[in-house]
Amino acid sequence: MHAPTSFSQVKQAIASGSTTLPEQVRTYLRNIEDQAQLNVFLEVYADEAIAEAERIQEKMNQGTAGRLAGMVLGIKDVLCHKDHGLQAGSKILHGFKSQFTASAVQRLLNEDAIIIGRQNCDEFAMGSSNENSAFGPVRNAADPSRVPGGSSGGSAVAVQAGMCTASLGTDTGGSVRQPAAFCGVIGLKPTYARISRYGLAAYASSFDCIGPITNTVEDAALLLEIMAGDDGQDSTVSRKPVPEYSKFIQDKAKAAEPKKIGYLRQGLESESIAPAIRAAMQRSIDLLKEAGHSVEPVDFPFIDYILPTYYILTMAEASSNLSRYDGVRYGYRSPHTTDLLSMYKKSRSEGFGKEVQKRIMLGTFVLSANYYDAYFTKAQRVRRLIQQQTEQMLNKFEFILMPAAPTTAFKIGEKTTDPIAMFLGDVFTVQANVAGVPSIALPTGKDESGLPIGLQVMSKNFSEAELLAFAQHFMSLGSN
Ligand code: GLN
Repeated sequence: MHAPTSFSQVKQAIASGSTTLPEQVRTYLRNIEDQAQLNVFLEVYADEAIAEAERIQEKMNQGTAGRLAGMVLGIKDVLCHKDHGLQAGSKILHGFKSQFTASAVQRLLNEDAIIIGRQNCDEFAMGSSNENSAFGPVRNAADPSRVPGGSSGGSAVAVQAGMCTASLGTDTGGSVRQPAAFCGVIGLKPTYARISRYGLAAYASSFDCIGPITNTVEDAALLLEIMAGDDGQDSTVSRKPVPEYSKFIQDKAKAAEPKKIGYLRQGLESESIAPAIRAAMQRSIDLLKEAGHSVEPVDFPFIDYILPTYYILTMAEASSNLSRYDGVRYGYRSPHTTDLLSMYKKSRSEGFGKEVQKRIMLGTFVLSANYYDAYFTKAQRVRRLIQQQTEQMLNKFEFILMPAAPTTAFKIGEKTTDPIAMFLGDVFTVQANVAGVPSIALPTGKDESGLPIGLQVMSKNFSEAELLAFAQHFMSLGSN
């Protein structure tokens, strides 16, 4: 049985008496159980979610409920939730329980959202296919022989398959947008530092962003509005006031006013783009032109440098962030140790998966004294150039369109032996993270095998209000 797909539908169904919040939660729980083979949730909080639903339903009846009463969320297994397990998809955090709740999660709970469980993901959010989880791959509900994308694969499939109203993922280089695209749902990566990272298990701190995965743009706007803003716990979080995104997007006439839009030429013309994605890009461009917008091609001169810059810097940051997992105070400790050093070595070698170990080693290498300038410093310089060029591009065009990924969801196992091919799949998503700008993935139809296609729209720093309004306008043009 399928649940209503958006928050407003859930609220309406409850208000009209056709369901209750506990019943709604039971529907999601049934959907989780019936589709257990998709391997989406690492832990489901069934009793707790039903008890919360009863409590919040009571508040709804009394008219005292928060703004998210009726919203049932799943959260990626990298977000702290007090007294609940957290493993970042890794064996190394075996048995770990959060001692506090991430600010973003707490803000949603304060508004009466319910958390139904924690979701499978690539280990420490490193991956593009969810095949790097210590708990096995997540399967795409559109075709279970295919990947859901990654690293927030469980979070995307949960929304795709009606297991919750929305999910929280994280996006360091595309991990919200690419799985959203592979699963036919919406994924928003906000501006870096728009949402506090307090309580997010770090992968690469200067890139990591929390972002919502939803069925509608309205839900993404509302979740962002509630999560965003200073919390006094993250020295990098922005103090800029948080606009009322959910109100802003109601002005449909404003969103429809003619805009100056660019599309990445390589995103339409490159040989490596699957024909169905090229066709979807062209269709989107045509629709926007018909709606009165100006849409022109743009070339991004540094496109070939974005991926190496991203991977050098994120691996360097990861090698430092992940050094804390040593098996001493919490998590997995190898039983085969003889002394302190062997305890560190064995716990880390047995606790981390192959991909994570590879990145820690490469990250350590690029930070080592002899190679620091050749790799790390150079990549930082190139990052600055990419940021500047991206800014210039976004001064000229309000929005930039590109595919979310060059292909639709690929087969499980298809790219596991070819890491370069796996990395190349991130070519369109990493720019927004290297530059720090917001970007959203929107479903735009299906390919010949019925697999979802995602279009990506990028905009200036802190322009989420305009981006979301435009996203909603675009969706109303009927491209999907
Ligand atoms: N696929 C990218 C990586 O492996 C992005 C991951 C992410 O955004 N967390 O690093």
